[in-house]
Amino acid sequence: MLVVVNKLARIKVRGVVQGVGFRPFVYRLAHQYKLNGWVRNTSGSVTIEVEGDEAAIKGFSASLETGAPPMARIEGVSLSFHAPQGYTGFEIRDSRPERGKYQLVSPDIATCPDCLRELLDPDDRRYGYPFTNCTNCGPRFTIIEDIPYDRPKTTMAGFHMCPECQREYDDPLDRRFHAQPNACPRCGPRLELVSADGTLTESRDVIKATDDLTESRDVMKATDDLTESEDLIKAAGDLLRDGRILAVRGLGGFQLACDATSETAVATLRRRKRRPAKPLAVMMATREEIVRHCELSPEEERLLSSPQCPIVLLRWRRGVSCVAAAVAPNLKYLGVMLPYTPLHHLLLRETGRPLVMTSGNLSEEPIARDNDEALGRLKGIADYFLVHNRSISARYDDSVFMMVDEAPQPIRRARGYAPYPIFLPFRSKQVLACGAEEKNTFCLTRDDHAFLSQHIGDMENEETLAHFENTIELYKRLFRVTPEVVAYDLHPEYLATKYARRVISELGLLAVPVQHHHAHIASCLAEHKAEGPAIGVAFDGTGFGSDAALWGGEFLLADYNGFHRLGHLEYVPLPGGAAAIKRPYRMALSYLYTLLGADFPLEGLPLDGLDPEEVAVVKKQLARGINSPPTSSAGRLFDAVSALAGVRGRIDYEAQAAIELEMQAPDKIDRMKKETYPFAVTLEQGVRVVRLAELVSAVVREVRNRVPVPLISLRFHRTVAEMITGVCRDIAGETGINEVALSGGVFQNRLLLMLTTSALKKAGLAVLVHRLVPCNDGGISLGQAVIANFAGRS
Ligand SMILES: [Zn+2]
Ligand SMILES: [Zn+2]
Ligand SMILES: [Zn+2]
Repeated sequence: MLVVVNKLARIKVRGVVQGVGFRPFVYRLAHQYKLNGWVRNTSGSVTIEVEGDEAAIKGFSASLETGAPPMARIEGVSLSFHAPQGYTGFEIRDSRPERGKYQLVSPDIATCPDCLRELLDPDDRRYGYPFTNCTNCGPRFTIIEDIPYDRPKTTMAGFHMCPECQREYDDPLDRRFHAQPNACPRCGPRLELVSADGTLTESRDVIKATDDLTESRDVMKATDDLTESEDLIKAAGDLLRDGRILAVRGLGGFQLACDATSETAVATLRRRKRRPAKPLAVMMATREEIVRHCELSPEEERLLSSPQCPIVLLRWRRGVSCVAAAVAPNLKYLGVMLPYTPLHHLLLRETGRPLVMTSGNLSEEPIARDNDEALGRLKGIADYFLVHNRSISARYDDSVFMMVDEAPQPIRRARGYAPYPIFLPFRSKQVLACGAEEKNTFCLTRDDHAFLSQHIGDMENEETLAHFENTIELYKRLFRVTPEVVAYDLHPEYLATKYARRVISELGLLAVPVQHHHAHIASCLAEHKAEGPAIGVAFDGTGFGSDAALWGGEFLLADYNGFHRLGHLEYVPLPGGAAAIKRPYRMALSYLYTLLGADFPLEGLPLDGLDPEEVAVVKKQLARGINSPPTSSAGRLFDAVSALAGVRGRIDYEAQAAIELEMQAPDKIDRMKKETYPFAVTLEQGVRVVRLAELVSAVVREVRNRVPVPLISLRFHRTVAEMITGVCRDIAGETGINEVALSGGVFQNRLLLMLTTSALKKAGLAVLVHRLVPCNDGGISLGQAVIANFAGRS
């Protein structure tokens, strides 16, 4: 006779296992394996006790990882055996917080196929309901105020579930079991449509007040909730088709929407938002719609339709697409995303055309979050506000990616990604790294987690600083981090640096100042779990150097402990500081007068038409060194060549001159002759300095000879790639280190990245490029955090 000996196993599962349908999955799995016991959320993990046959327990435990629901991310499963308790069934127990413990928080997730089906099914009770969600999708991070993740600690606390929602919520076999944001038209959040001059009024009044919406007036008389929401979407669609600008309250803040096919609507939005040229993102209803406007590779399609649902920069079929040229002036790429909330799905289907969907803010302010805030701040921009009454806990911009070598590369990391951590190759201290000025993020570390914040924004105003400080407090609370060390950029004027200095002196914490480009390289190493030392190529706009010059074309031998500057582009003055960044022709003048002679003639160059007075001012600044800090910035070299070639002399957004120069390069470069411009490398006290006089003079000659700009652009890009490869090969030969990490905002330039990577590989060097965090300053805080972890260790 077979004797079955029952065993009891206690299992702990770590990772993103809360708010993602993990407990119902465990419940079903326990039934499948005929095991008794319970499952419970704790602050740090999910704890399970199962009792039964040992083989069944092992099968159960293995299935926890292999069969987990789509949004769960398992970090580790531990199992120990104990004396059996004689459980008679399997149950889901209440959550239990534990002091000091924390859990990973799921990012917000795009509407899942099941919810989309219900949304569009006239027979479903959630038909047309813009806040439909389930355990596999919907808001998470943006509604969580504290852990453990239960409804009372979310911004859904104020909504009381109706009996039907409650039944779903309580049924372990339901897709909405313990879905904290669960809601329906009877009990959940509701939409309102408000005109720009009204306060939050009854939607019906607003519709009545609008002359050109007379048709919908009758419909608005319908009284039940469902029809109301349907009619609001209809009215919003009418407004959008009519060229109006709508502020739409989304997941992590307001977005500004308008008809992307209307030049007039887009121009109006640009004028009101004070954003003359920076490209705008477009939302398209379906994959079929996207391929009408853009080229789409299988990898791009996978990324676009992933649960993270980011904006992806796609090759724009400008000749075919009816998306307005003003959406992305002078660019070959369009930032496109699919709808990621039910509200977006409804709006896109109703409007029947692509919509511009851009952050709801004025120029560089943070994205507006609350209704009153939006009505105040976006008043001059939006004609109407499509709002709802579910509060947003965390501001959360859309993430942006581009595809490089068939793999995604982040440009902005926010919705769908933060606050999921980057995993570190070591056990870390509790560190706060404050990041840089532009595209700021911060980073908190503990255990092997680096909690890199969502994109905060450009730290240029009080609003962004407040957003930064509040979000730091939120992360500290959610992940139970009490920093002992604070890392910050060397630049004394960065608001993030000033904040760091303040908290360091107030709380008596350990201060670790980190050089900007060292942080860039460390961030690239850290995301690859590479410890270095590696040859770091940090090419960006500008960052404060250890010698107080503005660096930005750097070759560093770096690891987490420190760096040696082994090479850089030669210094030229930045005439007028910030003025030279906004007006690239000033940089062109600086290169000409510094490298080719103080009286270099401008004849035959696009610079010839410049205001002679300003040219005289620049000359004086250069001659006397007034407000002209020396810089080795690669970004400024791109600016100068762009201005010299007549592509762009003034910019409306960061890096515009360099981006448009890249866009000028021909598409089929393989067939072109591999021509480059000359440059020299000199060795000064062991440091390689890339001399640029010959390069600048060659560009001048080509411009004067009317060589087509696409050729100049291509030759220049090839020259920079050759320059990087040559210096790296030399350093590798000298040091025996042949791993190269590429970082800094200049590597958002696809052409340069592609040319550089392939040349480095051809030279026998291994290349690391960013895949998890942005190569721009959005990745800086991760680098600062890992460096701070090693400060004082060796
Ligand atoms: Zn769903
Ligand atoms: Zn309900
Ligand atoms: Zn930088």
